[in-house]
Amino acid sequence: MTTERIDLDSVAAQLAELRDRALLEIADAVDPTALDRVETAYLGKKGSIKSLLRHMPALPAEDRPRLGSAANAAQDAVDAAVSERRVRLESLALEVRLAQEATDATLPGRPLPRGSLHPSLEINREIARIFGQFGFTVYEGPEVETDELNFQALNIPDDHPARDLWDTMYVANEAPEGQRYLLRTHTSPTQIRVMEQQKPPIRALMPGRCFRYEAVDASHQFEFFQVEGLMIDEGTTLAHLRGLLDQFVAALFGSPRPTRFRPGYYPFTEPSVAFDVQCLICDGAGCPACGRSGWMTILGAGMVHPNVLARGGLDPERYQGFAFGMGPERIAMLRHDIHDIRTFLDNDLRFLEQFR
Ligand SMILES: [Zn+2]
Repeated sequence: MTTERIDLDSVAAQLAELRDRALLEIADAVDPTALDRVETAYLGKKGSIKSLLRHMPALPAEDRPRLGSAANAAQDAVDAAVSERRVRLESLALEVRLAQEATDATLPGRPLPRGSLHPSLEINREIARIFGQFGFTVYEGPEVETDELNFQALNIPDDHPARDLWDTMYVANEAPEGQRYLLRTHTSPTQIRVMEQQKPPIRALMPGRCFRYEAVDASHQFEFFQVEGLMIDEGTTLAHLRGLLDQFVAALFGSPRPTRFRPGYYPFTEPSVAFDVQCLICDGAGCPACGRSGWMTILGAGMVHPNVLARGGLDPERYQGFAFGMGPERIAMLRHDIHDIRTFLDNDLRFLEQFR
C-alpha cells in the first residue's frame, strides 16, 4: 500500500466534475476558436481528462479497468458536446452572414444623375422631326470634302470672288489629281451627293457640322451645325418654298408668325433670298436683339441654280428645286434667349443643365 491512498470513487468524482465543467465551457464557447481551446484543454494529449489517468498506477488492479472506462465515457460525452456545439456555431455564423447580405428590396434606389441632350443636338432633332412631317429624309455627308464638291460643283469656280464668303480650312492630305481636301464650309456639297444618288422627286434634309476659319466671337464660331434642305421636282416654285418655310416657323415656334423674303445672294441659287421671321422678343416693334428692325433672319434660301442641277446630273429644263440652309445654334439662341454662340462648345455644365 502506498501512503497516498487513491480510491476509485474520488478519481471518478474528479472525472465527473471535469466533464461537467467541460460541458459548461463548451456551451459558453461563442466561436470556433473558443471551442477549439476548450476541446484542447479537456481532450488534448495533455488535457485534464488524460492527466487524471496518471492516477491509474496508484489504483488497485481490479479498479483500473473501471477508471479506464469511466474516463472513456467522460471523453465521449465531451467529444459529442464539442461536435454538437461546432455544428450549432456554424449554423449561427451562416445566419449572421445571410442577415448581413440580405437585400431589402423595398428600399428606394440611389438616384442616378440625369443627363439631357445638348441644345445643338436637341434643335437638330427638332428640325428633322418637323421636316420629316413634310416628307423630308435625312442625309449625311462627310465633314472632309473635296474642293470640287464644296465649291466648284456649287457654281463657285476657283477664281470666283464668292469664295471670300467662306474662310476655308484646307486639309494637307494628298488628294486626287487637281483636287484639294478641305473641312466643308457648309452642308451644301451634300446636295450634289443626294442628286447623284437619286432621281426627283427629292426631299432631303442634310444636317451636319461645318467649319470656317472664323475669328471667334459671341456670334461666330469656327465649328457649327448647319441644316440644309433640298426639294427638287417638276414645277417647283419659290411659292412652294415660302409655304413650306411658313409651316416650319409655325411648327418650330408654336404658332404662325409673320415672315418675309428679302433679296439675298448665293452662287448656287438663283434667285436667292434671306428668310426673316418677325422678332420673337419685340413682336416687330424693334428692339436691340433685332437691330430695331422688328425682324430676325433665320435662314438663307433660293431656287437651285441650273448649273448646280446640271452638275448633279438633272435636266434643268425639266426640273426645278429650292434649297435652304440654317444654323441650328442660331435658332436655339433665338428660342432660349442665348446671347453667346461660344457657350455651345464650352461644355460648361452650368450652361448645359439649363436645358433639362
Ligand atoms: Zn426685336
